[in-house]
Amino acid sequence: ISIKNLQKVFKSGTNQVQAVDDVNLNIEKGEIYGVIGYSGAGKSTFIRLLNRLEDPTSGEIVIDGEDIANLRAGQLRKARQEIGMVFQHFNLLWSRTVRENIAFPLEIAGTPKQERQERVDELIKLVGLTGREDAYPSQLSGGQKQRVGIARALANRPKVLLCDEATSALDPETTDQILDLLVNINEQLDLTIILITHEMHVIRKISHRVAVMEEGKVVEEGDVLDVFLHP
Ligand code: ADP
Ligand code: ADP
Repeated sequence: ISIKNLQKVFKSGTNQVQAVDDVNLNIEKGEIYGVIGYSGAGKSTFIRLLNRLEDPTSGEIVIDGEDIANLRAGQLRKARQEIGMVFQHFNLLWSRTVRENIAFPLEIAGTPKQERQERVDELIKLVGLTGREDAYPSQLSGGQKQRVGIARALANRPKVLLCDEATSALDPETTDQILDLLVNINEQLDLTIILITHEMHVIRKISHRVAVMEEGKVVEEGDVLDVFLHP
């Protein structure tokens, strides 16, 4: 993933906020890359640009050779299927079971029923939800809900998994379990993971490299140990 001169300006009347200000980053395949910063630093906007929930004001986001910052509307849907997203508050469908939540992106993609069922079974095993397939989200613990969120994000075999404060609504023990799961997925699938968080602990525990954001800019970047241990 190669990000060049990425900018996002929000305008409302005469007010203008530069939420992402000339960000340049290279993220390798198979890396767990952390983005950390205080509230308002621009982390959410940054990650929402990566899956085009927001349109960039300018710049490039090249993922596996394709510049997704400059796609036309018709190409966006397919590009989005190649990028999985995990949310802080899970964003599950409350009237659907675990199995149905995970199958949802496959239905949208038009995956045939048989293949859909096999894929969902695989995902349920992968995230450790065996036995809970027919439960509804209201019957699950926070950690279990996020396992559903992760399985759903992986359904279409994305090239990148984006995690937006994925453990911020969980207690410390559950946070560690979910981070272990992300490491497992990273290793088993050789999947690139980008996570944004305001928690140092999350970055320390699983990231290979980290970028520190402040006021829309990357103010520091590198190996986690270098960034956090050196003055
Ligand atoms: P973080 O995720 O690090 O807390 P955000 O990306 O949410 O930061 O916000 C960065 C800045 O952009 C903030 O000043 C915020 O108020 C502003 N911002 C975010 N989204 C919008 C929006 N839709 N319209 C206007 N300003 C926004
Ligand atoms: P957390 O500590 O993550 O908030 P909970 O206390 O919500 O966890 O859940 C603990 C256990 O209770 C989990 O195994 C969950 O599946 C089960 N559980 C929670 N709510 C319900 C419910 N409404 N019906 C059945 N089981 C539930």
